[in-house]
Amino acid sequence: MAAAAEDGPAGKAPSAAVPWREARNAAARARLEKSLPAVFPLPVLRHALSRPLVPPTPRLAVESYWRHHILRADRLARALAAASGQPEGWTWRLGMGSPPDTRRRGKAGEDLSETALAEKGLAFSFRMPPAPFREAPYALGKGHCCICGQPVYRFGWHRDLWGTGAPNRNAAWHAACVTAWKFWIAPADHVKELKRRQGHRCAQSGKRLLRTAEVDHRVPLYRIWREERARPWPELLGYWGVGNLQVVNRAIHADKCAAEAGERASVRRRAAEPGAGDPAAGTE
Ligand SMILES: [Zn+2]
Repeated sequence: MAAAAEDGPAGKAPSAAVPWREARNAAARARLEKSLPAVFPLPVLRHALSRPLVPPTPRLAVESYWRHHILRADRLARALAAASGQPEGWTWRLGMGSPPDTRRRGKAGEDLSETALAEKGLAFSFRMPPAPFREAPYALGKGHCCICGQPVYRFGWHRDLWGTGAPNRNAAWHAACVTAWKFWIAPADHVKELKRRQGHRCAQSGKRLLRTAEVDHRVPLYRIWREERARPWPELLGYWGVGNLQVVNRAIHADKCAAEAGERASVRRRAAEPGAGDPAAGTE
């Protein structure tokens, strides 16, 4: 009972939710143990069994593990992408077609690589990380991760722990890469982890981060598209990763954004002058 009492709000009797949770977790643990294969990544199992709500299946345990290790997922996904390398003939391009909401929707039950893809798999904004293997001409097909291009094994794992020698033909992405992708396209959702990584200090001023602090790309994404887009693909992904992210206090972020907007406007003005030609300057 001592453990249960600790969970109740201070000074109050343990809530009715505690016995419910204990019963639920006992059932979830039993279900998990029953469906667990002989070989399973130990850190994932340890993580699962220590959750306030134990995930009841190996697949959910893997997803929970990466969700709680977002920065590790980011590093792993980029390392896997580096192992694949840039496909022959690929360059970073943006879609020019109709916006995503008017494109043909995938059939219900179709996988992410169908429904989430823009026309031919090209993103419409340079804010999206380039993903060659999501583009139709470079797709590697089932069993390979559409984000990093490496083989996918059981439970969306990235290594063949089971010695099957062949990827899982029903899988189209790694659990780690899906987590990393979500992080890349919405890093502000993970401000807590990023703040912790900086010891709760503003990356620009060194002052204590306020509650209103914001996530910023050190090198802004418009400049990656404008100036760096010829870099090899796995290297490009680094600009969406933790190395190019910083948490800064809001006032500092506002100043940086204003300076960037001014810089972009002057590039656009220069591009509009007769004889000038910067094809990327007007892009957004
Ligand atoms: Zn992957």
